[in-house]
Amino acid sequence: MKVLVAVKRVIDANIKVRVRQDGSGVETANVKMAMNPFCEIAVEQAVRLAEAGTADEVVLVSAGPQQAQETLRTGLAMGADRAIHIVTDQPLEPLAVAKLLRAVVEREQPGLVLLGKQAIDDDCNQTGQMLAALLGWAQGTFASKIAIEGETASVTREVDGGLETVALKMPAVVTVDLRLNEPRYASLPNIMKAKKKAIDPLTADELGVDIAPRLQVLRVEEPPGREAGIKVETAAELVDKLVNEAGVI
Ligand code: AMP
Repeated sequence: MKVLVAVKRVIDANIKVRVRQDGSGVETANVKMAMNPFCEIAVEQAVRLAEAGTADEVVLVSAGPQQAQETLRTGLAMGADRAIHIVTDQPLEPLAVAKLLRAVVEREQPGLVLLGKQAIDDDCNQTGQMLAALLGWAQGTFASKIAIEGETASVTREVDGGLETVALKMPAVVTVDLRLNEPRYASLPNIMKAKKKAIDPLTADELGVDIAPRLQVLRVEEPPGREAGIKVETAAELVDKLVNEAGVI
């Protein structure tokens, strides 16, 4: 079975994100970028499936600017076999990404597509669901456990009330959650080996996908700064403030 893993390059999770002065978006110039943390978990899972002999090839795909190659190299150093880079400088909405991924799925014919449950930059949590709908495939979202037996993927999902396990008929789309695994660090020899692995460039035109945005961002703003707290002398004063000032009880 071939596993296709979609990985996105985002602002590094440890960086404090700043809004651009003109309110047109967040500042990305000279900002450290990295693989979306949920995508790292997806790559780790695919590599573990290969190590267990369940998968025979792990293919990464990323859509984004030239630098997305660095993100793909990180995934190749974790153990993926090869990568596809859909090169574009345009901002991409989840529907456009889902259409690009569908076109790649049609070419590659994987048995399983793994994605992060969400990208930490736009927090959309849409791409995997849209991809499954476009393909007409089964989907398991927020996976905290994946077990594959024959033509069935058993996916345990983190839902509000606890854990739900669904059986998906494969091929299927699965989006992964935080507790699925702990991604490995790439070793130096594997980083060196990854330099020789293939990254095939493609364009949206070659895939026949229109990636023109359908949404217009009107304005991006910083959230209001938090006001300093106060100390109350008694419980009665606290209750009074909660009732009369905060209006929460
Ligand atoms: P989102 O729906 O934007 O929150 O993203 C969910 C997941 O879709 C990510 O964790 C990735 O697996 C995948 N994805 C989103 N954007 C891209 C992209 N530009 N290239 C490759 N995969 C992507």
